[in-house]
Amino acid sequence: MHRCGATVRTNSSVESLLTKDGCIIGAQVPRKTQAIIKAPYSSSSRKSRNDSKLYQADAVIIATGGLSYPATGSTGDGYRLAKDVGHTIIPTRPSLVPVKTSGETAQQLQGLSLRNVEVSLYVDNKKAAKRFGEMLFTHFGLSGPIILSLSRQVVEEIQLKKKVEISIDLKPALDEQKLDMRLLRDIEKNGKQRFKTLLKELLPRKLIPVCCDLVKIDPEKIGNQITSDERKRLGRWLKDFRLEVNGFRSYEEAIVTAGGVSTKEINPRTMESRIIKGLYFAGEVIDIDADTGGYNLQAAFSTGWLAGKSAAK
Ligand SMILES: Cc1cc2nc3c(=O)[nH]c(=O)nc-3n(C[C@H](O)[C@H](O)[C@H](O)COP(=O)(O)OP(=O)(O)OC[C@H]3O[C@@H](n4cnc5c(N)ncnc54)[C@H](O)[C@@H]3O)c2cc1C
Repeated sequence: MHRCGATVRTNSSVESLLTKDGCIIGAQVPRKTQAIIKAPYSSSSRKSRNDSKLYQADAVIIATGGLSYPATGSTGDGYRLAKDVGHTIIPTRPSLVPVKTSGETAQQLQGLSLRNVEVSLYVDNKKAAKRFGEMLFTHFGLSGPIILSLSRQVVEEIQLKKKVEISIDLKPALDEQKLDMRLLRDIEKNGKQRFKTLLKELLPRKLIPVCCDLVKIDPEKIGNQITSDERKRLGRWLKDFRLEVNGFRSYEEAIVTAGGVSTKEINPRTMESRIIKGLYFAGEVIDIDADTGGYNLQAAFSTGWLAGKSAAK
């Protein structure tokens, strides 16, 4: 940036934008926040009468990020700055965020990570989405890649006060019939073992007491005494281990913020505001959010590149 002639000012939190006749003319920074200045003042800056500094500019890019992970500098200021000059802000909410579940099941399984499971999202008893991969139990509920990727929809449905459930298919490679045959085979082969010992072939150790509890089979019951009803119950549970979702974690733990400056008010060819000439937007402050996998960073880089090029013109 220095090689290209840019001046970098850290600890210079922009407080407000300056506009005139629908055009940007600069930005205002309270003096007290300017602690470190890494390069000489630009000639276009001047002191204001109060304790702020005014930066004159015919182009300004808002790239202030969202509200998530405030520890990384996210303040939500960009939403206020944009709103103050007339932009519409689509209501913000946490996304790629862990979810909270009712009861104590998740807490009992805290720290357990499941791989190669299929998770389905049920909204008002209807299957709304599914993901395959890895998930994690925490002291408050569920996290891990496939849960985070379902979380945008979870947050929306919870906010609409819908009934939201997560169903975990612990044996996605087997359909119900094949799974039942496998259970039958296992029970016949190890008929003298206790139920809790039989389960070691099927489940991670931590899940065994939870399974016995939820399928209501005595863990001490001898294998060949397990009834076909009980075996079918176990099969159904292995394919549909359900947890009720009753909330989601806060912005502090959300990887990205959904909502933001309405895309309808931004020219996608330049990233320039359709409301204020010379004002541009880049990154998470815009109403864009994506799945995990680098797509949010890519969105920030691409819109940043385009906004920078356009503003420089
Ligand atoms: C823990 C974590 C993991 C993530 N992992 C991934 C991932 O694997 N893949 C992926 O694609 N995305 C990931 N993301 C999301 C991704 O990092 C963000 O979407 C992206 O960094 C947004 O870039 P941005 O430039 O818009 O905003 P930010 O990177 O948030 O930068 C905004 C900057 O603006 C500054 N600022 C705020 N207010 C003001 C103000 N008033 N004046 C001046 N400056 C201000 C802030 O201090 C900050 O430096 C992750 C995020 C987190 C928190």
